[in-house]
Amino acid sequence: MADLLLREGKVAAIGESATVQSGRDVERLDVSGLVVCPGLIDLHVHLREPGQTGKETMATGTAAAARGGFTSLVCMPNTSPAVDNPSTVALIREKAEREGVVNVFVAGAITKNIAGEELAPIGSLKNAGVVAITDDGHCVQNNELMRRALEYAKMFDVPVMDHCQDYNLVSDGVMHEGYWSAFLGLKGWPATGEEMIVARNILLAELTGAHVHCQHLSTAGSVTLLRDAKKRGVPVSGEACPHHFTLTDSALAGSEIFWKADGKAIAGNGGGARPAWPSYDTNLKMNPPLRTAGDREAILAGLADGTLEIIGSDHAPHAEYEKEVEFDYAPFGITGLETQLALSLMQLVHSGLMSLPDLVNKFTAAPARLLRLAKGTLKPGADADVTVLDPNRQWHFTQEDSASKSRNTPFHNWPLKGRAIYTIVRGELVWREENRQARV
Ligand SMILES: [Zn+2]
Repeated sequence: MADLLLREGKVAAIGESATVQSGRDVERLDVSGLVVCPGLIDLHVHLREPGQTGKETMATGTAAAARGGFTSLVCMPNTSPAVDNPSTVALIREKAEREGVVNVFVAGAITKNIAGEELAPIGSLKNAGVVAITDDGHCVQNNELMRRALEYAKMFDVPVMDHCQDYNLVSDGVMHEGYWSAFLGLKGWPATGEEMIVARNILLAELTGAHVHCQHLSTAGSVTLLRDAKKRGVPVSGEACPHHFTLTDSALAGSEIFWKADGKAIAGNGGGARPAWPSYDTNLKMNPPLRTAGDREAILAGLADGTLEIIGSDHAPHAEYEKEVEFDYAPFGITGLETQLALSLMQLVHSGLMSLPDLVNKFTAAPARLLRLAKGTLKPGADADVTVLDPNRQWHFTQEDSASKSRNTPFHNWPLKGRAIYTIVRGELVWREENRQARV
C-alpha cells in the first residue's frame, strides 16, 4: 500500500515521499481497495487507420483501449495502404497525437504492401518511429526473404514479430482441423500450419541471432517448440490471446455443445446464467482459430511457466455486414480490447495458475522490454501511465456498451470478473468506471 504522486505527466514519487510531497492543492483519487499498476500495454491491435474507418477509427479504437485499462497499444500495419513506408507511419502518428486518447505505437510491415515478395525499407521505417515490424494478417512464406528481414532488423535494432501461418498447409481452412471441423463440415486449419512457421522462425533466429516474437500462438506444439528453443538460448518470445485460452473449437458447434464438451472445465461449476450462441457463429472465427481443450491447456501452461511472456488482444474489428454471412465467407477476427483484462484475470489469476503481479507483468514490463518502450513501470521519472483495476469487480460485457466501432465479439453478455476502474495516460484521466461521461 502506497501513495503515488503524478506531476506534469510523469511519476513524481511513490511511497512515503509521495505522501510528503503532495500539497493540499493536489487532486486526489481515492483508490482504496483497488490495485494500482503501470499502464497496460497491448502490443497487438488493428486500429484500421488509415483506410478502413468503417471498422474502427483512431478515436474509437483508443477509447476502447482506455475502457479496457490499456494506456498504450501497438497498431498493426495491414491497413490501406499498408504501413510499409515512412509517410504512412507519420500519418498514423500525427492522427494518434490529435485523436487518440492513449499512446499509439506503430508497427511497420516486413514486406512491401505485406505481399511477402520484396522487403519494406526497414531502416527508414525504424527512423520514422516504428517499434517493430510484422506482416501480421499475413506471413512471409519465403524463408530466404525472412532471413534477410531478420538480418536487416538486427542491424537496425528493431524487433520482428510474426503471424505464423504456412499458406500451403492452411489453404482455405476456416477453423481448427479436427473432430469439430469434421462434425460441422468446415474446412480445417491444422495446428501444423502454425507450428511449421514457429519452427522456421526458431531456426532463423538461431541462424541470424535476431529476435523473433511469435504472435498469437494457439497450439500445444507451438508452446513445446518455443519452450525447447528458449532452453537452448534462442532469441524468441511468444504471445497468447485471451480467446485462445478461454474458448475451444467446440464453441463453433453452439453454446449448448460447448458447455457440455469443454465449457465445464473452463467455467468451473459456477452455474448461473450462461451466455448462449448459435452454431456457426462468425464471431468465433479468427486467425489462428480456436483450438482443442488440450491446446488451450498448453497455452495456459506456457503462460504460467513463462514460455509465453506476453498477452495481446489481436483486437480485429469488422463491420456487422461483413460478419453476417456464411461462415466460410466471414472475415477472420474479433474485438478484444475491452474484455481481455477480465478474461486473463479469470483464466490465469482467479483460477490459481499465476499471481496478479505475474499477470500484470505480461501486460506491462514484458511488452515494454520486447519493444524497448520506456513504459511498464511506475518508477519516479516514468511517464504517468497508470491503470487502476479491481480484480474482483463482477460485470457483464455487452456489445452496446463497447466504445469500439465494431460489434464482432463472442463475449457479448458474458459474466466477467475484474475490470479497469481508472485509466490514466500521461497524467490525464481517460477512463473512469463510475462516470462514463468523463472524456471517453
Ligand atoms: Zn495475426
